Amino acid sequence: MPHKPIIAVYPGSFDPVTHGHLDIIMRSAGVFDELVVGVGLNPDKRELFTQQERLELIAPHIRKLANVRAEAYTGLTIDFVQRCRASVILRGIRDAADLNSELQQANLNRMVGGAETLFLSTSDQYALTSSTYIKQIYLMGGGNMQRIERLVPPNVARALATKLGSGRGGIVRRTGIRRRRRSRRSSA
Ligand code: ADP
Repeated sequence: MPHKPIIAVYPGSFDPVTHGHLDIIMRSAGVFDELVVGVGLNPDKRELFTQQERLELIAPHIRKLANVRAEAYTGLTIDFVQRCRASVILRGIRDAADLNSELQQANLNRMVGGAETLFLSTSDQYALTSSTYIKQIYLMGGGNMQRIERLVPPNVARALATKLGSGRGGIVRRTGIRRRRRSRRSSA
């Protein structure tokens, strides 16, 4: 019987892409016939990089992987999965908290979209890496290149430095985080 190609979508915010995400991409590229990294919009998260910028940060890392591409999408992940003709949704799992929050979504996507979700566990050294955590390091004034490059590739470290400056002053000036905090306090 001819083998039906297995297409997987790896959806996420990738704001920005980290060594943890790239590890999942590299390891799963050998498992599926096609892998689409889906760069989505999460209404619960305030984005730092635009979707286009996030795609550009991923691009050099997948250039040599012939069966991997990255695409931006809006709307429901399951609709994007169907547009890609994928049968698998891939998610990375760092810990029990990740798994807990993923199970319900996986069940829903199977029931309404007929797509199976497969989980790949993180490599040990990336278990504590998240895009949110990296942005927080900057917020706390720890945005020096050496530290950041343990968590993200050099092109992402440079983009973070350009966007946020190196440390506390940069993020406050460029993102207005202090302004938002003040206005929250004054409206309380
Ligand atoms: P985050 O802001 O937490 O990095 P994303 O939406 O970008 O979230 O994550 C996309 C997918 O990648 C999710 O399945 C998430 O669990 C997974 N992921 C994120 N960081 C890692 C990591 N360090 N190791 C393994 N999987 C990860």
